[in-house]
Amino acid sequence: MGVQLSKPALWEELRSQPPRITTICSHSSLQIFHGARLEGFSTIGIAEKSPPRFYDAFPKAKPDQFLTMPKLSDVDTLVPQLQKEHAVLIPTGSFVEYVGPEKFNRLPVPVFGNRHVMAWESDREKEREWLEMAHVPMPERFKDASEVDGPVIVKYYGAKGGKGFILAKNSEDLLASPIRQPHVIQEYIIGTRYYLHFFYSPLSTDGYRVADGSLELLGIDRRDEANIDELYKLGSQEELTRSGIQPSFVVTGNVGVVLRESLLPQVFEVAERIVKTSIDLFGGMVGPFCVEGIMTEALEFKVFEISTRIVAGTNLYVSGSPYSDMVMPGLSTGRRIALELRRGLKEDRLGEILS
Ligand code: ATP
Repeated sequence: MGVQLSKPALWEELRSQPPRITTICSHSSLQIFHGARLEGFSTIGIAEKSPPRFYDAFPKAKPDQFLTMPKLSDVDTLVPQLQKEHAVLIPTGSFVEYVGPEKFNRLPVPVFGNRHVMAWESDREKEREWLEMAHVPMPERFKDASEVDGPVIVKYYGAKGGKGFILAKNSEDLLASPIRQPHVIQEYIIGTRYYLHFFYSPLSTDGYRVADGSLELLGIDRRDEANIDELYKLGSQEELTRSGIQPSFVVTGNVGVVLRESLLPQVFEVAERIVKTSIDLFGGMVGPFCVEGIMTEALEFKVFEISTRIVAGTNLYVSGSPYSDMVMPGLSTGRRIALELRRGLKEDRLGEILS
């Protein structure tokens, strides 16, 4: 590990030596590097073994420099180089998956946003506590099958991409299903899924005000999930189960959507309560986050998950979205991160956006 600078000294150093926007070469890296470049930042890509070739196909999103190591989980071995290069890490789902919240929190390299938020995202119990405190409508949770009075989804902790989740139409169906431990039984919400890409800026002084900053909606997507999204083509779920085919929710891509305009006040209110509660619970969430939920036919938005960092669904909007275009034409979430860093540098407020 390299030298750990005291924070004010580190912010001062970053103001005199331009920070370099750095992330793992996966997930939403193209958009992060592209947005950084548009705002005049130099970029570093962290890769396992060797620089991935796909960047050659996207020259405007290729990082200026690559740092590699044998295994991404050993990212701490790069700390002296990252410090020397004035790297600022942009957290993505790849940090959650390959590095993990514990190691990530200990990295003595500045991180965009509040690094402690990752622990709240990756622990379903903590996340539920946060959402309950924020009075956000959520799917009901059942202790055991006897309480179940309708369709449910059984989730396993740490199941990558919802692999092995079980769907049951009622308690009998559930009792007949092979359920592993530990699991959570959740009400299956029937409706339409929306993954809302928000950005909270503690530096903004105008727009949709929340606490001392502003909340922006930069886009919305819906995930393509294999095999559930296409499973119906093969027949009824009962038939499929008999044939040993189980539904899974592995994200394979994303499609763009917009929300009925009259529903925007409701989702802004939900996001506002999530941000305000994050300030009370752990000093606040800064930058991009995603509220993932289902709009029911009664037009009630029920949140089943939040991601507390840039999500891959924002990759749809490298050159702006139907929402971000009304904030700034052509604005991607990657570029929004770079803009916030630029403003923090200019106003000497890095301590409010980096941790
Ligand atoms: P990932 O890590 O990929 O986000 P996960 O393991 O955290 O997945 P969830 O995001 O909670 O799992 O759920 C995966 C998918 O299952 C969702 O994208 C959605 O399609 C579906 N889903 C989750 N909860 C519910 C629910 N309560 N009702 C209906 N569908 C749900």
